Amino acid sequence: MKILFVASEAAPFVRTGGLGDVAGALPKALNELGNDCRVILPYYKDEIKDDLQHTFRFKASTFVDLSWRRQYVGVYETKFNGVTYYFVDNEYYFKRKGLYGHFDDGERFAFFSKAVLEALPLVDFIPDVIHSNDWHTALVPVFLDAFYRSSADYNRIKTVFTIHNIEFQGKYGKELLNDILGLPDGARELVMMDGDVNFMKGGIESASAVTTVSETYANEIMDPFYSYGLESILSLRRFKLYGVVNGIDMGEYDPKTDDRLFENYTVKNWEKKKTLNKKALFEMINLPYDESRPLVAMVSRLTEQKGFDLVSAVIDDMMRADMQVVILGTGDWKYENMFRAIEARYPLKFRAIMAFSADIASKLYAASDIFLMPSKFEPCGLSQLIAMRYGSVPVVRETGGLKDTVPAYNHETGEGKGFTFKTYNAYDMLDAVWRAYGAFYDKENWRKVVKNAMSSDFGWSVSAKKYLEIYKGI
Ligand code: ADP
Repeated sequence: MKILFVASEAAPFVRTGGLGDVAGALPKALNELGNDCRVILPYYKDEIKDDLQHTFRFKASTFVDLSWRRQYVGVYETKFNGVTYYFVDNEYYFKRKGLYGHFDDGERFAFFSKAVLEALPLVDFIPDVIHSNDWHTALVPVFLDAFYRSSADYNRIKTVFTIHNIEFQGKYGKELLNDILGLPDGARELVMMDGDVNFMKGGIESASAVTTVSETYANEIMDPFYSYGLESILSLRRFKLYGVVNGIDMGEYDPKTDDRLFENYTVKNWEKKKTLNKKALFEMINLPYDESRPLVAMVSRLTEQKGFDLVSAVIDDMMRADMQVVILGTGDWKYENMFRAIEARYPLKFRAIMAFSADIASKLYAASDIFLMPSKFEPCGLSQLIAMRYGSVPVVRETGGLKDTVPAYNHETGEGKGFTFKTYNAYDMLDAVWRAYGAFYDKENWRKVVKNAMSSDFGWSVSAKKYLEIYKGI
């Protein structure tokens, strides 16, 4: 089957979070199943590393209309890990610092979504399915129906739209309708929501199938607590909504081969080697090391979604116990400040590393005993999967993908991979932390839970097959 995967980021070219990981790994897994899945993304000239850019080859160029504008579309091509990647070039829109957060993001990604459709005949790739992701590329199925359907190249193409995070919908004032989207009458209502233009709503309405990145999240977004206003639209479209949990690249995230670690290890020798990783990391970040204490880690964007308000409410209780905490993350100023203040109060027990660093992230996954992820909502979550693979036992709230991927440890049966709690409440979280803390000192049980976590298969092959079934179904 021929699939075009459309995303605003893809590892290893550009990645700011989970979406980039998925776009880097799922196409490869689909190709390993015998498909021809290609990826198209914006050509961020200031963001993609030079050694990768040097492999790009110019393919073709054209122009695309955005209402009264006519904009240049260049297409470059490269291959990586057996996957063909196309890059849409337009320096006005994409030669900037940072991927997102510009005043004209709506225009930039509307441009990209239409340029993708213009590019198909240029690169001579007419897919069976176009799979677009999150609000940035949600307009692809809308534009396809509104402007391209009647032409022979396009009239059989089916579309899938995946919601990675419903919080970000691409909401803009209705002036965008005429000024940028230029949609014909019949299509305008598709992108309108509560008087505004809403890109994600357009994607949900127009795509042949809608998916989200875990089964639990697919159910949760029917509820206003999780849906950020889209529950009514999603309930109407329930018949075409599926949940498919993400995987991780098991080759990249492997403690046996990860060259960022101080010491590599496997499920057979983790106990000694993780201790060495912890010692070395503590030396690097200047924390006093004591073998008997568990290290609790967090690796995360610092946003409300990730449950830091719960951590803030009970951190003093946690610090009274014999544990240490290291947090790696960047994001909201309020959380950065909060963690700096905590570090100042507990300099021997708490470190806040305000950076985005894949290197430190790997070292921290490997060094830590417990991985805390008490998210308010979590469409899928990759960090807990990586943590489990590195033998850091997750403590998570039972929401979204966390619920689907972290079965609670049961002392009676010796099954389960982590410690969980239900309600978004700091003391429920603290209770789960205590359970993990207690289990850490009960070495027999701890070895079981670490082994269960480390032996899991979080590879993409099962989920890639599920996507393939959805593609075939439509
Ligand atoms: P989200 O996509 O909501 O940010 P996920 O758990 O799905 O959360 O994916 C987060 C990914 O980004 C993981 O691979 C995690 O290791 C990585 N990550 C998050 N913060 C940092 C950081 N400060 N430095 C390095 N990697 C990070």
